Amino acid sequence: MDFLRPASWEEALAAKAEHPTAVPIAGGTDVMVEINFDHRRPEYLLDLNRIGELTEWEVGGENVRLGASVPYTAIMENLRAELPGLALASHTVASPQIRNRGGVGGNLGTASPAGDAHPALLAAGAEVEAESVRGSRMIPIDEFYTGVKRNALAADELIRAVHIKKADGPQQYSKVGTRNAMVIAVCAFGLALHPETRTVRTGIGSAAPTPVRARAAEDFLNAALEEGGFWESGNIITPSVAKQFAQLASGACNPIDDVRGTAKYRRHAVGIMARRTLGWTWEQYRGTARTLEGAA
Ligand SMILES: Cc1cc2nc3c(=O)[nH]c(=O)nc-3n(C[C@H](O)[C@H](O)[C@H](O)COP(=O)(O)OP(=O)(O)OC[C@H]3O[C@@H](n4cnc5c(N)ncnc54)[C@H](O)[C@@H]3O)c2cc1C
Repeated sequence: MDFLRPASWEEALAAKAEHPTAVPIAGGTDVMVEINFDHRRPEYLLDLNRIGELTEWEVGGENVRLGASVPYTAIMENLRAELPGLALASHTVASPQIRNRGGVGGNLGTASPAGDAHPALLAAGAEVEAESVRGSRMIPIDEFYTGVKRNALAADELIRAVHIKKADGPQQYSKVGTRNAMVIAVCAFGLALHPETRTVRTGIGSAAPTPVRARAAEDFLNAALEEGGFWESGNIITPSVAKQFAQLASGACNPIDDVRGTAKYRRHAVGIMARRTLGWTWEQYRGTARTLEGAA
C-alpha cells in the first residue's frame, strides 16, 4: 500500500486525479477500522492531514463554511451558536478521542445511514463543496446520499468543505442507542426551525438505506403552523398536530431489522423523537418570542 502525503490542496487533487482509487484519510476513525479488520486493502492511501485549511472554518453572513476535516470537538467548542443541531449531534459521536480526530468530511465520505452528522445537516440545510482538477461544484445535501454507504462524489473528487446554513431558530438532535456513549445510532432525528422562512426541516438517521428528510411531515407541519398563525402567536402546538407530525415522520422511515434494532422499533422511536424534538424546539422558540416581546 502506497501512502500519498500531499502538502497542499492542489497536490491532493492532482494525486486523486492520477490515482482515482486512492482512499482519502482524514481522522482515520472509519478508514483505519476498515483496514484493521481487512475489509479494505486500498492500493493507495491519500493522507489529507498536512492540508491545514481543511481544519479551518469561516462564519459568514448566512452560512458556515466548515473545512472537511474540522473535528467534532471544534464544532462543539466553537460553533454551538451557529450550528446548534450539528453541535448536539457531534456531542453524541463516540468518545472524546474519536471526536478529536473524526469530522464531518469523513462522516460524509463514509455516508453510513447511521452517521450522526447527516440528520443535522439535512435539517439545517447544507451543500457539500466537492472539487477535482476538473473544477469545483456544490452538491445539495439532499442529493449527496445515493445509497447505503454511497455518495455523489466522482472518483477524482474530494470534499473541500461543507457549507451549512447558520441557525435562525432552535435546532435539536435526538439519538437512540443501546447506551449513552460510544454508540452507533439505532436511529436518530434532527429538527430545525427556520423562523425566517417559516419552515421546518428534518433529518432521519439509521432508519432507511440513506439519511432522509421526513418531507410529508415537514409539509404537514409547515401548513399547520402557517394556517394556525403559530409563528406569530407563539402558541403551544396542538397535541393533534404534534401527533400527526410524529406519525408522518415515522412513515418516512424505510428501516431494516438488524443487530441494533428492529424495523418496527425504529419506526416507533423516530415518531417519538419527532414529537419530542418538536416540543423542545417550539418551547425554545416561544421563549425567544416572549423575550423579544418583553424587550420591545
Ligand atoms: C469507536 C468508534 C466509534 C464511532 N462512533 C460513531 C458515532 O457515534 N457516530 C458516528 O457518526 N460515527 C461514529 N464513528 C465513525 C467515525 O468516527 C465517523 O464517521 C467520523 O466522522 C469519520 O471521520 P474521519 O475524519 O475519521 O474519517 P476517515 O476515517 O478519515 O474517512 C472516512 C471516509 O471518508 C473519506 N474521506 C475523508 N475525508 C475526505 C475528503 N476530504 N474528501 C473525500 N472523502 C473523504 C475516506 O476516504 C473514508 O471513506 C465511530 C468510529 C469509531 C472507531
